[in-house]
Amino acid sequence: MSEDSKMITEIFGSKVFNDSVMRQRLPKDVYKSVKKAIDGRQSLAPVLAGVIANAMKDWAIENGATHFCHWFQPMTGLTAEKHDSFISPTSDGKVIMEFSGKELCQGEPDASSFPSGGLRATFEARGYTAWDCTSPVFIKEDGKNIVLYIPSAFCSYTGLALDKKTPLLRSMDALDRQAVRVLSALGNKTSQHVTATLGPEQEYFLIDRSFYERRLDLILTGRTLFGAASPRGQEMEDHYFGTIHERVASFMHEVNVELWKLGVSAKTQHNEVAPSQYELAPVFTTVNVATDHNHLVMETLQKVANRHNFVCLLHEKPFAGINGSGKHNNWSMVTDDGINLLEPGSTPHDNMVFLVMLCAVVRAVDKYAKLLRGSVANTGNEHRLGANEAPPAIVSVFLGEQLTDIFNQLAKGGATSSKQGGELKLGVSTLPPLPKDCTDRNRTSPFAFTGNKFEFRMVGSTQSTAGPMFVLNTIVADILAEIADELEKAKDVKSSAQKILQKIANEHQRIIFNGDNYTDKWVAEAEKRKLPNIRSTVDSLATIMDEENVDVFDRQKVLSKVELEARTEILLETYGRQINIEARTMLSIAARQIMPAVVRYSRCLADTVNALKTAGIDAKVQESMLEKISGLTDSADKALKDLETSIEKYANTGDASGKAELCRDLIVPAMCELRKFVDKLEMNIEADVWPLPTYAEMLFLK
Ligand code: ADP
Ligand code: MG
Repeated sequence: MSEDSKMITEIFGSKVFNDSVMRQRLPKDVYKSVKKAIDGRQSLAPVLAGVIANAMKDWAIENGATHFCHWFQPMTGLTAEKHDSFISPTSDGKVIMEFSGKELCQGEPDASSFPSGGLRATFEARGYTAWDCTSPVFIKEDGKNIVLYIPSAFCSYTGLALDKKTPLLRSMDALDRQAVRVLSALGNKTSQHVTATLGPEQEYFLIDRSFYERRLDLILTGRTLFGAASPRGQEMEDHYFGTIHERVASFMHEVNVELWKLGVSAKTQHNEVAPSQYELAPVFTTVNVATDHNHLVMETLQKVANRHNFVCLLHEKPFAGINGSGKHNNWSMVTDDGINLLEPGSTPHDNMVFLVMLCAVVRAVDKYAKLLRGSVANTGNEHRLGANEAPPAIVSVFLGEQLTDIFNQLAKGGATSSKQGGELKLGVSTLPPLPKDCTDRNRTSPFAFTGNKFEFRMVGSTQSTAGPMFVLNTIVADILAEIADELEKAKDVKSSAQKILQKIANEHQRIIFNGDNYTDKWVAEAEKRKLPNIRSTVDSLATIMDEENVDVFDRQKVLSKVELEARTEILLETYGRQINIEARTMLSIAARQIMPAVVRYSRCLADTVNALKTAGIDAKVQESMLEKISGLTDSADKALKDLETSIEKYANTGDASGKAELCRDLIVPAMCELRKFVDKLEMNIEADVWPLPTYAEMLFLK
């Protein structure tokens, strides 16, 4: 049977060392211990690791694997891996295949070439990776290379987190501890654990590979640094949910099959708002596994795109003037006995657990709005947040009609009723009446309640979900701790809870906003409400080390002050480096492709003017064309020189924050200036002469 015609149920998870494989292949007691370690959050006894490693190796080899690797997430935001083969030489000149418990549990990659933000002195090269048994081991095939992947955390010789997974796991523990305290205080004695869940919707662009290859900016920076707007953009609103083009549909099918094999539950796919923009969403799972899976999604999209002669652009803003890409993070909390803590039920006003959880999130988001904003601050996202595009840089919460009404009732002392949705009649006798949700959707909100979860929409499309999610887990855990402290000492829990809810509803009303977040009116209104509006990445990163943030990470044992400092340093450094690469790429394209093309075209016009004049014919039109182009060329040349000077300044500036500030103040404005004139030149020069594929070609040709 061909791979394609196999039943999906058979394909799904076929490359994962999952529960059913473990049950089959591990001795019963070992299997039970692994389950206990995963579900009960205990560490696994080292003696068992050897047995598990052996079973994994046999399974991997049966599936064609020759190597294994610890797969981790250094602070580059990407994943890292180093492959080791299973072979072990024997005295008779042959080999046997081996994989020990120690090799499964621990790796020792040289940490010196990963960003550490000063956590690791250069002489301390050693780093460790540790098997994260809560995220399943899997097999990945790249060409002929088949490797067993072991999801791992990564830390320094002294035990400091050097990755994104470690703080994420710590934040999950924190949330678990505090949420269980609250539940228990509210009378739930059966739930033992609470886990954060995540379903990330991934947006991306697909363009034909032939265009990509002719654009150094896409190759080196992931976005177009030049490009006049296409005469047609997204104004027809005909792409969103439109029919999926055959070539794209085949690509999507192959992506799904690859992901299903890896146990990633790719579920929905559709055309997005901008031309050539698409989305993929999986079914949600624990935030840790979902984060690992999202890395696989991004990687698979790119890999499969290549096979179809497409290139998948994951950048937050590949094209100016049309929508960029985000990664909506749908987040909730679920107990080990299956209760979604953000499920309102049909009468949310008397669902105390729900109300407490909801209010805790609202308070956390308001209190730590700047930190949440900082968790999504990167180079690409600067073009989305606050730059005339959704969502804005102002953090606010959408609750919708029903919950806002309840929230207002709480502020007055207690909620006694819930508005109901009712029925929708379409006025066609053959169509059934539709049950109506009690709340409409709001597409413009950065942090929206969507039925039984919150959706954090500010996350950028290239970002690891770990960062924003460990921030959210941590701040919610901290507020839950506050609430638990109160409830645990209360004589009358119910009235104490009422008081807490009333206080939160009064104090945090300002963060609730159900209107259109894209309007200037909201920007003005938010300012009145004293909500922060931090548009620049550098300014946003500068708030991360605020005392309250250092304290909350410390209290919840997610990041120490030095660890947080190191991360902030890396984020600033990355911003500076990326802008510097963009600026140098612009210079290269402008000096080596655009200016020469412009000069050639000017020469052609000048020759024409001369020839016409010699022939005694009026050359007014040609002369004015030439003048226009010469004027623009002159301006572009000046902008180019300015950019060159600011790049030199960057090289001579000392620390990461100095460099980042220089980018914000000098380099980015100089880049915008150069682009302005080059894009005008594009509109005034013969199409055949222009050296770069245009927006129209890239976005509309398939
Ligand atoms: P929408 O267009 O409404 O945003 P999508 O289907 O595109 O809906 O995405 C919704 C995402 O939210 C999916 O990944 C889904 O699995 C996820 N989701 C649903 N319930 C939860 C939950 N309780 N916790 C986390 N994510 C959830
Ligand atoms: Mg969504």
